[in-house]
Amino acid sequence: MEIKFCGAAKTVTGSQHLLTINGKKLLLDCGLYQGRREESYRRNKDFLYNPEQIHSVVLSHAHIDHSGNLPTLYKKGFRGNIYCTSATRDLCSIMLQDSAHIQEKDTQYINKKKSRKGEKLFNPLYTISDALNVLKQFKSMPYQNKFYLDGFNNKVAVTFFDAGHILGSSQVLLEINDGGKKIRFGFTGDVGRWQLPILKDPDFMGDVDYLISESTYGGRVHDKATEMDNQLQQVILDAYQSGGKIIVPAFSVGRTQEIVYSISKLYKEKKIPHIPIFVDSPLSVNATEVFKMHPECFDDETAKLISEGTDIFGLSYIRYVKDVEESKSLNSFEGCCMIISASGMCEAGRILHHLKNNIEDKRNTILIIGFQAEHTLGRRLVESVNNPGMEVNIFGEPYPVRAKVIVLNSFSAHADENELQRYFNYFNRKELKKIFLVHGEIDMMEALKANLEKMDFKKVYIPDYGETVILN
Ligand SMILES: [Zn+2]
Repeated sequence: MEIKFCGAAKTVTGSQHLLTINGKKLLLDCGLYQGRREESYRRNKDFLYNPEQIHSVVLSHAHIDHSGNLPTLYKKGFRGNIYCTSATRDLCSIMLQDSAHIQEKDTQYINKKKSRKGEKLFNPLYTISDALNVLKQFKSMPYQNKFYLDGFNNKVAVTFFDAGHILGSSQVLLEINDGGKKIRFGFTGDVGRWQLPILKDPDFMGDVDYLISESTYGGRVHDKATEMDNQLQQVILDAYQSGGKIIVPAFSVGRTQEIVYSISKLYKEKKIPHIPIFVDSPLSVNATEVFKMHPECFDDETAKLISEGTDIFGLSYIRYVKDVEESKSLNSFEGCCMIISASGMCEAGRILHHLKNNIEDKRNTILIIGFQAEHTLGRRLVESVNNPGMEVNIFGEPYPVRAKVIVLNSFSAHADENELQRYFNYFNRKELKKIFLVHGEIDMMEALKANLEKMDFKKVYIPDYGETVILN
């Protein structure tokens, strides 16, 4: 049996790990690489393997950096099953179509520029039709329910465990019969956090021989997830006093529902005044619908609030904006309000207009609540916290950052250094032969490696992009 690291190796995005078991190929995740535009396009288009030869995909969760390249896989000939939880499947049904829409739009924009310069035009990475076609290949399975992968002659059993990261997110346990030898192989997907709103805490998948682990925040400590209500309360009270707007770039799935949930609780406890709140993203509207359909993924606190009649998704007081004209009309809105909009890393979508219109007014607040990858506008905004007045480019034009930028890492959906240690403490050191670290920037990976070695995990390895490792 061997494993090839085809993405998220020494970087965060583009999760793809290829296992070859008894000559058959199983892909764990097929995420989109996100970074500089042309490099991303190339990396996403050219796989490090032949998609026609992949028998099955096992998908940990719906985030685009884990699922977003599945339509390209289809386009290049993959016709096997994609296994995931039912909430992941439902989220993918809206997210992959949305991603295809962005690909088509982005290509139009680039081609306009290229045609002016007389350069060769791009094709979109994939289209909505590719996204719709790949959705036909999904098979959903419940948590903690062992099943055998089709096409592997009953040699590979899979069990999903809750990862506590986003709705439907899972850790993957593979029980493999590799030519008579039994191998337990784990994949963390993205490790969530204890006490995140709405979701259950991360589960333990049981002991394994090998584990691929994410390492996003392997060397950083977040504020506790339980702090988010208090911190958000302060941000809202300050903005209410200054009369400014709060602009929140947020992933449509996860962060948006969590911040709304937090606001609902603050309203219930009468800790903040009622201010107009807009969720300006068609995808968020649909994602909230998917959340409502999956109460089986909710934790006890959320179930209790619902039973008490709390409007946890703010349907009675939040203005969910689908229409572009209504989105534009928010530009002329006067007074304190909150606008939550995608994309979460400020790379595309309506958030760019809201930033452009509000970034130069010092009464306003830009509230960052999610991970911001290198080379994104979101990351530049985070950097501006220590460089007041620095300029950032929006739609190719420079704008000085005069609004207050606040980063609340209590909202992170990824385990931090301490939570990863808590997660790993469940594993038996003697049985776990090797840990492969992926999904992190190199300093975070090195920090996690050092921590794990201190915790007596002897073999911790950071693979390169494209590297193959033989397991025996
Ligand atoms: Zn994720």
